Amino acid sequence: MFDTLSDKLESVFKKLRGQGVMTEDNIKDALREVRLALLEADVNFRVVKEFVEKVREKAVGTEVLHSLSPGQQVIRIVHDELVALMGGAGNNELDLAAKPPVALMLVGLQGAGKTTTCGKLGNWLRKQKRRPLLVPADVYRPAAIEQLKTVGRQLNIEVFDSNPGQNPVDIAAGALRFAELNGYDTVLLDTAGRHQIDDFLMGELERIKAATSPREILFVADAMTGQEAVTVAGGFHERLGLTGVILSKLDGDAKGGAALSIKAVTGTPVKFVGLGEKLDALEPFHPDRLVSRLLGMGDVLTLVEKAHAAIDEKQAERLHQKLKKNQFDLEDFLEQMQQIKKLGSLESIMGMIPGMGKMMKEMKGAQPSEKEMKRIEAIIRSMTPAERADHGIINGSRRLRIAKGSGTTVQEINLLLKRFTEAQKMMKQFQKMGPKGLLKGMGG
Ligand code: GDP
Repeated sequence: MFDTLSDKLESVFKKLRGQGVMTEDNIKDALREVRLALLEADVNFRVVKEFVEKVREKAVGTEVLHSLSPGQQVIRIVHDELVALMGGAGNNELDLAAKPPVALMLVGLQGAGKTTTCGKLGNWLRKQKRRPLLVPADVYRPAAIEQLKTVGRQLNIEVFDSNPGQNPVDIAAGALRFAELNGYDTVLLDTAGRHQIDDFLMGELERIKAATSPREILFVADAMTGQEAVTVAGGFHERLGLTGVILSKLDGDAKGGAALSIKAVTGTPVKFVGLGEKLDALEPFHPDRLVSRLLGMGDVLTLVEKAHAAIDEKQAERLHQKLKKNQFDLEDFLEQMQQIKKLGSLESIMGMIPGMGKMMKEMKGAQPSEKEMKRIEAIIRSMTPAERADHGIINGSRRLRIAKGSGTTVQEINLLLKRFTEAQKMMKQFQKMGPKGLLKGMGG
């Protein structure tokens, strides 16, 4: 996400980091590059202008802190101002503090990702121990209602029963009554979209708003459309008074312009980002973490949170016992690989470790790749349970059989077993730590 922008900013800052003395001239040079990088990333030009001006004033005007070099200080100002640009570190949480059922309304253009996001948000809310009800209120797009029902089935979340013959305002109002009677505390209204803003649609959305008093009106914006998304958000905000934005499709090659300008232009903060088509690919948006990633500082907090969420406590405890007794075998190894996969793609995880994103780019090939992980998995899956439990019994003929079964070579099996033996030795050293010892070491 935002690779080009991130590369550019990193290279500006690399130069700055080394500067012992900052003059107005080299601040000016650096800021010119920052300006270009932001414009190229499709950030609104007025936003860029104001941003650069603010940073320049602060950079020239502030006293140099003892703990930072002058170059680092400029980086810090840019960091803080970028965070402020996107709404600061705090106010991006959903407002659910009302007597249930709380209504949340999703609005946006057709194809922006509303229906998918409705499911993702329901899934996320359920993880927060809430009881969501999904409500299809798009009676115009053929199959929109059916699409949300399918999403609900996949997630095992209830979908309010509506049909294309009904009035969307009646559907929304009926869904709230249904939620109240049946103990659903959060009602997610998936409304109709058009290819562009039109009066009829806005009028209908206003009536749904009046009928349901939603606690949040969330505009779902396709990040790939850049400034267009910002303009459309402005149009919706004027008529409806948005409370937040959900940026979908940030996993694609969105340049970042929408994420960086939407708050400054519309006054509405981004609250969530969609990072894939799968129904768990939604994350709360933290400007400070995104900026850290953009500036190549990593995002350890998200990594630790993801790790905590993915770790199965019982499994972790069982693993701990096995480690203690020195019984960690290839079956456990495979299990651990599955756990790591739950965190996301290897590349996205690595990008959260400070400095690692860059290193990965520089060392392509020398890194364990997803492909290599798949081969290792295939090898272990071709072993019998007895072999997984005690790899010492894997002799020459067994190696040949495993290689054939997994479509790999004996050399690869040899290498895997060698590495695993080394890993076992290393794990003995971790035995004294608790099941989450490693994570604790990372600050989790
Ligand atoms: P709607 O018309 O606004 O309801 O849009 P849909 O929910 O039907 O989504 C349109 C398309 O975008 C679908 O193919 C979704 O799978 C896809 N989509 C939605 N969110 C994301 C996302 O975060 N990442 C990616 N890659 N695709 C997404």
